Amino acid sequence: MLSKFIFLGAPGVGKGTFANRLAPRLGIPTVSTGEIIRAEIKAGSALGKQVEEFSSSGRLVPDEIVSRMVRERLANKDTEKGWILDGYPRTVQQARDLDAVQDVDRVVNITLPENVLVTKLLGRRVCGDCGKNYNVAEIKEGDLDMPPLLPKPSDCEKCIGKPKLTIRADDNLEVVTERMRIYNDQTSPLIDFYAKQGKLQTFLVKKGIADIPRLISELGLKL
Ligand code: AMP
Repeated sequence: MLSKFIFLGAPGVGKGTFANRLAPRLGIPTVSTGEIIRAEIKAGSALGKQVEEFSSSGRLVPDEIVSRMVRERLANKDTEKGWILDGYPRTVQQARDLDAVQDVDRVVNITLPENVLVTKLLGRRVCGDCGKNYNVAEIKEGDLDMPPLLPKPSDCEKCIGKPKLTIRADDNLEVVTERMRIYNDQTSPLIDFYAKQGKLQTFLVKKGIADIPRLISELGLKL
């Protein structure tokens, strides 16, 4: 069965949300470079100090720093059965760095129109305790029907359904606009890169997390 996935897509498309819900069912971890970077910044580590300025302005952290981070993370024992990469690679150089050390099975290009992405990014809320993602935006447009994703009591034992909802430092209009520009400029060429390798599969989001059964079926996963 497929076990090494890249979830590709613009900021706000739901890569992390889909990955975090699918990975446990496959018994594999999600590796999110954004989360690793935010944890380093929060911990005030030397690496955190090095990357903070890039992350808070929406610019990309230099390839060699992120590729080293991922190489080290993928050497951990818990990734033996596979992994879902969320937010990496983001440049053609990063994709080449990954190809040098790992075999990728499938690249899922997750898509939504750009105006919807911006609404979703500005509606994103994150639990300050456990890091779980929620969204207060309601999207109803054409065949898109995404209700807000609000906390339920069963979501997290630690926060018992009462998370401290915070807004990510880079989810404001100015930084979101810059992240979209960088995605179009530096990350979208990866669609072609992986199509040429015959690994690309496109997934159109329509209902948010309610799309997960369709994602599982389109990936041909037997869960
Ligand atoms: P994300 O949570 O994936 O939206 O990432 C948040 C921020 O972390 C990005 O805007 C970048 O500053 C940085 N970042 C995350 N992943 C990467 C990557 N693969 N390459 C460079 N910078 C990254």
